[in-house]
Formats: sequence, C-alpha cells, structure tokens
Amino acid sequence: MAGQGRVVILGAGESGVGAAKLAQLKGFDVFVSDFGTIAEKYSTELEKMSIPFESGKHTEDLILNATEVIKSPGIPSSAPIIKNLATKGVPVISEIEFAGRYTNARMICITGSNGKSTTSLLTYHILKKAGLNVGLAGNIGHSFAAQVATEHFDYYVLEISSFMLDDMFKFKADIAVLLNITPDHLDRYDYKLENYAASKMRIIQNQTANDVFIYCADDEESIKALQQTVPLAKTYPFSIVKQVEAGAFLDDQTIHINTEPNNSLTMSISELALQGKHNIYNSMASGIVAKVLELRNETIRESMGDFKNIEHRLEHVAKISGIDFINDSKATNVNSTWYALESMTTDVVLIMGGVDKGNDYNMLKDLVQSKVKAIVCLGKNNKRIHDAFEDDVDVIVNTFSAEEATQIAFHLAKRGDTVLLSPACASFDLFKSYEDRGNQFKAAVKEL
Ligand code: ADP
Repeated sequence: MAGQGRVVILGAGESGVGAAKLAQLKGFDVFVSDFGTIAEKYSTELEKMSIPFESGKHTEDLILNATEVIKSPGIPSSAPIIKNLATKGVPVISEIEFAGRYTNARMICITGSNGKSTTSLLTYHILKKAGLNVGLAGNIGHSFAAQVATEHFDYYVLEISSFMLDDMFKFKADIAVLLNITPDHLDRYDYKLENYAASKMRIIQNQTANDVFIYCADDEESIKALQQTVPLAKTYPFSIVKQVEAGAFLDDQTIHINTEPNNSLTMSISELALQGKHNIYNSMASGIVAKVLELRNETIRESMGDFKNIEHRLEHVAKISGIDFINDSKATNVNSTWYALESMTTDVVLIMGGVDKGNDYNMLKDLVQSKVKAIVCLGKNNKRIHDAFEDDVDVIVNTFSAEEATQIAFHLAKRGDTVLLSPACASFDLFKSYEDRGNQFKAAVKEL
C-alpha cells in the first residue's frame, strides 16, 4: 500500500477525519495528529478505518517526513509544528485543496466575513429544489473530503472561511461569491485588515474568463480589495443602493436579478424567506448563482420564499411578558452584531461579550446609543465592552453564565422591549461553541 506517499493530517475534527478517509482511499500512507483531545466520534471513525493517529501531542518524527500535510483551519500558521514544516519545505494545504483534486463537480464557493452559512444553505436549497445533484460542504460543518470519498455530486456548494483560503493554492472556484469584508479574526492576520482582505480575495485565484465572480458593490472593503486583485472571471455585483447592469439590485421594495438581457427575475422583498437588510444581500447573492446556472425564475422565486433559516441567527425564541427574546449567538464579530441591532425596532437589552478577537466597538456606538438601554456582559473578561460603552448606556453588568445573563436581562427589560443575545465575540471562554451558547440561552429563556 501507500505507493502515493505519506500524507499527515493535523487536527482530527470533521475536516481532518474526512481528509484521512479520502487520502486512504486514494492510496496514501496516512497519519493523523491532534495536539488536543480527539472527540470520541472521530477517534472511533479513525480506528474503524485502521488509520494510525495520536492525540495530545505532535510527534515530529512522525510528521516532518510527510510528502504533504493537510492542516485543520483552526491551526494558525504561527504554530511551532507548522513553522517546522515550512523550514523543511513540506507543503501544507487545506482539506478543500486536497479534496478538490478528486472531483470534477462544478464548485460554487461562498466566502465573506458574515452571511456565509446563510447564503450557502440558501444556495444549496435553491439548487436542490431545482433538481440538481448537489452537495453542501466546507465550513458549514460537513467535510468536503468525506463527501468526495463517498458520494458523487455534479455540483458542490462550499462554505469557505479565510483560514481555509490561506491553504488553498491550485483550487479553483467555478462560481465564487464574496459577500463582504469586515474586520474579523484579525488576531490571525497580524491585526491588519489588508492581510485578512487579501486572504478573502484568494477565492478568485486561478479563475479564468469562463468563471464567475459575484460580489457586493456596496461593500467598501471588497471594492478596495478588487482594486488590488482584478478578477479575470465574469463579474456580477449586487447592491441595494444602486442599479447594476448585470447582477442584482434593489429598486424600492423589489429585487431585480439578471445575468443576461431581457430575463430578469423580480421579487418583492416581503416575499423573501430571509428578512432584514443583510439577508437581502444574501438572497441576491444566492439568486445570482441560480441565474448563472440558468435555473427557471419561478423555481428560484419559490425557493427564496420557502427557505427555512438555521438556528442561532436572529432566531426568535419566545415572547414573555411582552418581551421578545432573540438568539443571535452566531454573531461572533462586531459587524454581525451591527446588522442585528440595525434590524431592531424596539428598545434593546443587549447580551454581548466573550472572546474578543481584536474588536473595534466604535462602529456599534451610534446604534447602541439609539437602541440599547442596557448591556449584559456575558464573558470572562468584559473590560473592553465597559470601556467602549459606559458613557452610552445606563446599565452595564457582568454575568458569567447564560442563565444569569438571561435572568438579569429579563429584569432590565420592560414590556415592548427586546432581549437580544448578539455577542460580537467568540464563545470559547464560557461555552463549547456558539451553538452551545445559543442553546443555553434558549434553555434559560424557557425557564423564565
Ligand atoms: P457566517 O457563516 O459568515 O458566520 P451566518 O450566515 O452564520 O454567517 O450569519 C451570522 C450572523 O451574521 C447572523 O446572525 C447575522 O446577524 C449576520 N449576517 C448574516 N448575513 C450578513 C451579511 N450579508 N452582512 C452582514 N451581517 C450578516
């Protein structure tokens, strides 16, 4: 066996174990190493496939002799093992780069700071309903490599994060979507927005004139980045402030989408399943993908109207004593909290905080001043939130559990207000994940 060479996989999560499965199938000698603990589900899977692995360490002797390394997006390039691999000249790639070599499916790749999951799911929904043989994978939580190993699809919708893009080199998106670029994860990019933007622009690398690039014409940072990296692909912008010739735009209450003359899809925004300004953008982006694939207008319209959004994104939990409770736990950066607050039509008690990723809270100031009556901090260290907002709201309190935060927020709110969990921060200080944070919040609301 193993005539192909030795592939070492760093990180035994969803993407790593999927990559291991595909690498084994393709005849590589495979080894998996995880510096932390491996979830039982994944260690059992590796054992079943008889793939050797280690946890709690990276044994250099077993890793540095790789012909190629597939690294989990969670491992920063500053990790000692990655530096050692670079010194030895061992190529380090992402699971997406690896799996992309083994499928001829048409790739629809969606990236951006916010809206990736929503837009990926909506796009997948439209394509599937139109009868296309389509898979959904990537950052959304399903391994692309595992699917390439076990299924045959003609199309893939891939949610792609900047961490994945950083280790993608030859992979090409047939249809690339860039939703927006706003500060996020700057801790991984030397605290420089231009580095993060450059990473996002890798979504169009290797594209040619036969490919498609869809982007937001209203997003300042995307436009700036496009001046540095000029796309070779056919471009379709979308905008809610100005008309575009080909792409999508909003005219009063109607969106127009067209990729060829005389065949516009029009739809009233009230008919869209996804509400809120940010979701007009997401719907437009998905709609353009569908039009590029020449799906029928009626099919697209129907799917954009009946899509069911996912948990933890501006999810209405309950109305108790006239107070609405909204779970937006997936808002893990300042920009998504901005959109959440922007869509609020009542006074708000805002639950926020967690792991600060180099946030600039200034952009929230106007909305906090006009809509937020109290801030309930939910995080281990809330100093930066206090510093940012102490002059803007009457009350800022610290809490250390979802239950405590929910109870205090309930006391601070009055009939007609909204209690909004939209943290602007990652969750890992007090919770396992943003899902865990959202679920604990929902459970606490149900106990009120
Ligand atoms: P991602 O997968 O990029 O993290 P999601 O689709 O999960 O994004 O949405 C996360 C949060 O970001 C949502 O709860 C919403 O508040 C906000 N959001 C969604 N789409 C957009 C958008 N196009 N622009 C800005 N914010 C958005």
